[in-house]
Amino acid sequence: MAKYIFITGGVVSSLGKGITSASIGRLLKSHGFKINMIKCDPYLNVDAGTMSPFQHGEVFVTQDGAETDLDLGHYERFVEINTTDDNNITAGKIYSSVIEKERKGLYLGQTVQVIPHLTDEIKNRFVKAGEGYDIVLIEIGGTVGDIESLPFLEAARQMKNNRNSSDTVYIHVTLVPYLSSSDELKTKPTQHSVTKLREIGIDPDIIVTRSEKPLTPDLKKKIALFSSVPPEAIIEAHNVSSIYEVPELLKKQGMDEQIMMLLRLRSNQYDMKEWERFVTKIKEAYKYRQVKIVMAGKYTKLKDSYKSLNEALLHACISNSANLHIEYLDTEEKKETIEETIKNSDGLIIPGGFGERGIEGKIFAIKTARENNIPFLGICLGMQCAAIEFARNVLKLKNANSLEFDPKTQNPVITIIENQKNADKGGTMRLGNYPCSIKKKSLAFNIYNKPVVTERHRHRFEFNNSYMDKFEKNGMIISGFNSKDKLVEIIEYSKHPFFIGVQFHPEFNSRPLFPHPLFVNFIKASMRGNQNEI
Ligand code: GLN
Repeated sequence: MAKYIFITGGVVSSLGKGITSASIGRLLKSHGFKINMIKCDPYLNVDAGTMSPFQHGEVFVTQDGAETDLDLGHYERFVEINTTDDNNITAGKIYSSVIEKERKGLYLGQTVQVIPHLTDEIKNRFVKAGEGYDIVLIEIGGTVGDIESLPFLEAARQMKNNRNSSDTVYIHVTLVPYLSSSDELKTKPTQHSVTKLREIGIDPDIIVTRSEKPLTPDLKKKIALFSSVPPEAIIEAHNVSSIYEVPELLKKQGMDEQIMMLLRLRSNQYDMKEWERFVTKIKEAYKYRQVKIVMAGKYTKLKDSYKSLNEALLHACISNSANLHIEYLDTEEKKETIEETIKNSDGLIIPGGFGERGIEGKIFAIKTARENNIPFLGICLGMQCAAIEFARNVLKLKNANSLEFDPKTQNPVITIIENQKNADKGGTMRLGNYPCSIKKKSLAFNIYNKPVVTERHRHRFEFNNSYMDKFEKNGMIISGFNSKDKLVEIIEYSKHPFFIGVQFHPEFNSRPLFPHPLFVNFIKASMRGNQNEI
């Protein structure tokens, strides 16, 4: 039977609970345990599909096409697992499923209540998540004290009932703020949040403190005392320069040993060598050649909006011994600014996105990269914009556009396919894994070195196949194709050293130790410098 680790948060949100959970997962995996990771989101949305990246950061897409919280991305990258829809439990999912059961008459005669019906529904999912695993880490979103997260915390509490005390561990991640006026760290908020947790019936076994400055032994003792845990169960997670350092930071303080002791698990293996090598390279990256990548997206104000993409670029840079510098470009800027920024860069990325804002600037940015032999990688919307740019400026197709931006265009090079028409927003997207056949003797084949690849999707619009011949005759090759559904997956410009657009999101498949080949090769091309200057 699986053992459970619950991770709760105190005082404020955005404490890095996701990274902490993922790091613990990594440590335990390196001890040879089979790990599953769950994120509970107390909001009433069923999934993150319609949530704004401005508010919640990136929507992470799983292989089976679930639109989930970005913490699942951390889990996949740190623990090297492939998550599914089941790894993200939202209050929306729980309520809908309980209400659906009630309508079907499955609770006949009963009054349907938060406890036990919602909590049972949550617990059933926790139990299911444990099938086939040694340890399940369950991160509960939000902060202890929120009304919304109560059913999840109650379910977490109930999980220790009818189990041995060595089957569940509760970790509380909390903030220890620093007051500059008195130059001290304050433990009172932690004290309150531990009390709150206790009121719910959960006694924490380990406290992870987030603070700007290291805790003194006295402070540790104080927190240990009021939390009723031994001082060694107070683990400090002060700020580090890279998130990938966190597993080591926790390891140094014995986090893995503490957990194994509490769960009465033993391991005589531990392998973090490759990971440590990767972290050392990140720390030394400032010595490497800098690659300046321009990212022209819409949501550049919130860093987390392109989380997986930023990480994929970092993984690729580290594997190329390059020092990543991302320059965010607002494509609503003047043409001169766009042109100058791109000409002064090593490569251009247009990430995925929705809506019309900034599109003309993106198309102009792509034109600049194409005409100046600057490496270009277009992702989803980026690929669609590359098709529009090519149609307008090379094929001279007047007003070529996507139906998303101009529903009346005479040249819809990006269109909506028949069975996706008229459906409601949110229900019409091509989501998750789809296979793609790669054309031999293409840049795509050089990159992947495989005849068929599978990548994750999240989009509504597609390349319009009636333009395929015209594109290919003029050098824009369709090098990736989904033959079953007849959908274009990859386009590349043969008259350019590195110009490629993909309809999917390769960033979701990049891992620190297994960087994605598309990004690795994009960075490699970008490191060759501006091809015009050679
Ligand atoms: N807006 C485009 C579409 O729906 C692209 C989506 C994306 O980039 N993920 O097809």
